[in-house]
Amino acid sequence: MDVDETRQAAIAAEEPPALTVGGLARGRITSSLGLTYRPYWWEAAPRPQATAALPKEADVVIVGSGFTGLSAALALLRNGRSVVVLERGVPGFGASTRNGGQIGSGNQKFRVKRLIELRGRRKAEALLREGVRMLDHIDELVRTEKIDCHFVRCGRFRAAVRPEHYEAMARDMQDLRAIAGVESFMVPRAEQATEIGSDVFHGGSVLPGDASIHPGLYHAGLMRRIAEAGGHVVGNAAAEAIVSDAATFTVKTPLGVIAAKDVIIATNGYTDGLVPELSRRIVPVGSALIATGEIPQSLLSRLLPRNRVYGNTNRVFYYFRAAPGERRLIWGGRRDRLAPPTSPRAYRHLARDMLRVFPDVDAVPVTHGWDGMIGYTYDEVPHLGRTAQGLHYAIGYCGTGVSRATYFGNKIALQLLGRSEGRTAFDDLAFPSFPAHGVAKRAVPVVETWYRVLDATKR
Ligand SMILES: Cc1cc2nc3c(=O)[nH]c(=O)nc-3n(C[C@H](O)[C@H](O)[C@H](O)COP(=O)(O)OP(=O)(O)OC[C@H]3O[C@@H](n4cnc5c(N)ncnc54)[C@H](O)[C@@H]3O)c2cc1C
Repeated sequence: MDVDETRQAAIAAEEPPALTVGGLARGRITSSLGLTYRPYWWEAAPRPQATAALPKEADVVIVGSGFTGLSAALALLRNGRSVVVLERGVPGFGASTRNGGQIGSGNQKFRVKRLIELRGRRKAEALLREGVRMLDHIDELVRTEKIDCHFVRCGRFRAAVRPEHYEAMARDMQDLRAIAGVESFMVPRAEQATEIGSDVFHGGSVLPGDASIHPGLYHAGLMRRIAEAGGHVVGNAAAEAIVSDAATFTVKTPLGVIAAKDVIIATNGYTDGLVPELSRRIVPVGSALIATGEIPQSLLSRLLPRNRVYGNTNRVFYYFRAAPGERRLIWGGRRDRLAPPTSPRAYRHLARDMLRVFPDVDAVPVTHGWDGMIGYTYDEVPHLGRTAQGLHYAIGYCGTGVSRATYFGNKIALQLLGRSEGRTAFDDLAFPSFPAHGVAKRAVPVVETWYRVLDATKR
C-alpha cells in the first residue's frame, strides 16, 4: 500500500461511504451507511425528553400532542381554561412532526363533481370554502403567535402522471374556481420546465395559495406558546382509560390519574382502543419520507425552479419539496410494510421514485429515513364532534392535516366553550364506521397494492 492509499484507507475508516440516492435505489446496501432513522425535522426541533409531573386536575385534558391537540390547547388557554395535554410518546411524537410540511386546503383531495354528487351543491360549496379558510387560519395563527417556522405561500405543483390526468385536473381546477373561488392555473407539458426540472410528467396544475412550513419548528413554537400561557404538555403519559360521572372525567395514565371537566381526543392516525367508538372510524395508513444531504444550489434550482411543494396525480402518490433554508430534498410516499422502519430497505422505493424523476441526484447522499401514521376515515372527510360518553374529538384528516388539524383543533376548542364561531360545515356530517373495521385495517396493504397496479396500468 503506498502513502496515498494508506491515507485514503484511513479517511474511509473514519468516514464510512455515504448511502446515495442511486445506491439506495439500486439496493446496494450493506449496512445503514449513516442513515438516521429519525425525522429530519427533529434536528432543528429536538423532542423534549424530560417527563413533566402530571397535574391532579385541569379544566380540559387533551389526549394527543399533535397539531390538533396543541391548537385546541392554545385556544382554550387564551380563553382562560386550564389545560393538560397527555402524550403517549415524547411531545409531538406523531404525524405532526413527521409530515412533509406541505400545506393545502384539503380541497385538492376532492373531485369537485363527485363531492357535489355525494353531498349536494350547497354542502359541497360550504366544505370547499371552509378548506380555503383552513389554509388562511394557519397562516394567521403563525403570524399572530409569531412562530418562526418558515411558513411560505410557495404554491403547489401537482404533476400529471398521464395525459388524461392533466385533462381531469384542468376540469377539476375549473370547478374549484367556479364553486369556491380557488385560484389555480394549468402548466402544459411544453412549459413544465418553468415548474420542474423533469420530463417524466405530462404538465400539471399550480395552486399558488398553498404553502410550506417546517413542521418541527411549527410544533415547537406552539409548545412554547402553550407553556407561556400556563398549559402543560406531559410526555410518556398515555391515556389508558377514561371514566366519567355526572360532573367529571377521570383519565388514567402511567404517571397517575387526572380529573377534568372536559376531554378532547386528538389522536388521529395513532388512535388506539381507548375510545372504541372512534377507533372503529379510523384506519391508520403509514407514510414514509427520506431527506437527502446537501445538493449544489445550481442543481436544486434547476430541479425545483419555483421552490414550491410538489406531488403527483397517482392514487398512491409521492410528494416532495426542498428543505427550508437548506439545499436538501425531502421526498415522501407510501410506507414499505415488509421492511422495518430502521432498515434502509424501508426507503428504497422512495429513492427509486426520486431517481426516476430526477436522475441527476444519483450521487447525492441520503441522510434520514422515517415514517408516520395517517388517519383515514371511511368517507375520506375529517370529522369533529362529541362521542356518546361526552368526549370531544377532532380526527381523520386523510393525509392533509397540517392546516386541517390546526383548524379543527381550534374549532373543537371553541365548540367545547359553547362559542358560535366554533361551528363548521363539517358538524352535521354523519361519521361512518368502517364496515368490518378489523378487516379494513388488514386490507390496507391489499388496497394499496391494487391502487398501485391501477396507477401502473390504467390509461
Ligand atoms: C409521513 C407523513 C407525511 C405527511 N405529510 C403531510 C403533508 O405534507 N401535509 C399535510 O397537510 N399533512 C401531512 N400529513 C398528515 C398530517 O401530518 C396529520 O394529519 C396531522 O399532523 C395530524 O395531527 P394530529 O394532531 O391530529 O395527530 P398526530 O400529530 O398524529 O398526533 C396524535 C398523537 O396522539 C398520541 N396518542 C395516541 N393515543 C394516545 C393515548 N392513548 N394517550 C396519549 N397520547 C396518545 C400519539 O402518540 C400522537 O403523538 C402527513 C402524515 C404523515 C404520517
